[in-house]
Amino acid sequence: MEEALNILIIDDDEVDRMAVRRALQKVSLPLKFVEVSNGKEGIALLQETQFNCVFLDYLLPDCDGLALVRELQEMGIEVPLIVLTGQGDEQIAVEMMKAGACDYLAKSSVSPNVLIKTLRNAIRVHQAEMEVKLANQRLRESNEALKRKNKELKQQRQQIHLKNLELQEAYRHKSQFLATMSHELRTPMNAIMGFSQILLRQYPDPLTSQQLDIVQRIFNNSQNLLTMLNEILDFSKIEAGRMDLKAEEFDLASLVQLTSEELRSLALNKNLSLEIEIDLANPLVTSDRSFVRRVLINLLSNAIKFTNVGGVWVKVWQVTSGRIAIAVEDTGIGIAPEHLKTIFSPFRQVDQTLTREQMGTGLGLAITDSLVQMMQGQINVTSQLEKGSVFRVELPRRLNVDL
Ligand code: ADP
Repeated sequence: MEEALNILIIDDDEVDRMAVRRALQKVSLPLKFVEVSNGKEGIALLQETQFNCVFLDYLLPDCDGLALVRELQEMGIEVPLIVLTGQGDEQIAVEMMKAGACDYLAKSSVSPNVLIKTLRNAIRVHQAEMEVKLANQRLRESNEALKRKNKELKQQRQQIHLKNLELQEAYRHKSQFLATMSHELRTPMNAIMGFSQILLRQYPDPLTSQQLDIVQRIFNNSQNLLTMLNEILDFSKIEAGRMDLKAEEFDLASLVQLTSEELRSLALNKNLSLEIEIDLANPLVTSDRSFVRRVLINLLSNAIKFTNVGGVWVKVWQVTSGRIAIAVEDTGIGIAPEHLKTIFSPFRQVDQTLTREQMGTGLGLAITDSLVQMMQGQINVTSQLEKGSVFRVELPRRLNVDL
């Protein structure tokens, strides 16, 4: 069953109250009536009871209807109010509606039909107003929340900016430290290598085979250490933008041939074959000779380092009239797909354990990548675990020095 509507009638004239009540009782709507004859009682009731609608006489003995409407508004009491006016009081009714009343009705035109229509309308309008008010309230709240979030984000952005500056500063210090340290270490390392080379000459006195073995080890290890120090120094130079490119015309075929031959002994020590296949009608290129040499040394020494059986191939060919490719292929341990992207990042090695078999700084490929980029080229790798890897560098035949 439909729940009865709670109606309050505030009117000092009992006849008028009855007229409203009787007229409304004629419509088939469950209604409950409460009646009071002055504003004070009306307000007291409205404070403690929830009404669906209030019929309010605009002229009450203790206050006028307008003051009452305003008081209810101030108290935050939300209820649909229908003002009952006398003949010719429309102006007052309009004022009351401006103050918050829903509608008005001339007492002379009180009839069941008009009353029920006005009542329904007032309840609907009031409901709609409440919904708008609620939506507005929610909007205001979410606006506030957004403002707060915005403020928080702004603060976070500032903090990130500060942290970024700190990081840049720390990074600069780290690069500076690496550059200084590797530079300082190179001098004693060169001395160790120089003196061990003198001892290896065995002049004037020969060494025992044990001494020879020890000195040879000192020399080999210092050479490895020097390579690592040079890598660190080169890397910090690249990071600081102090690695200068010098473009010149040179014979790529002979550079590849000579450089590969320098590393042949490393391949021979591991019983690996080293084959060089150069297919260039015109071997002249314009690029940075020492960069190309460094790239080849890095790729070739990695290929030898990470291959235990089989061999290594260096191939050079012309891709288009303006582009040359150099590939270093091996039948080595290969690289798992998940490591293919990271190996070009500084200090990244597939085997990061301290017990790894191969020495290295993890900087070789990062340096190689930077050098290739400086020469306006690209490097990519394809690899299969246990089968081998192919590192392919593509360079412009003529470096564009205006870029
Ligand atoms: P490093 O050789 O000093 O460790 P690199 O930057 O030259 O550093 O290489 C990074 C890593 O990439 C190596 O540690 C190795 O795990 C992997 N890698 C590079 N070249 C090869 C290769 N030819 N075969 C297998 N793995 C390789």
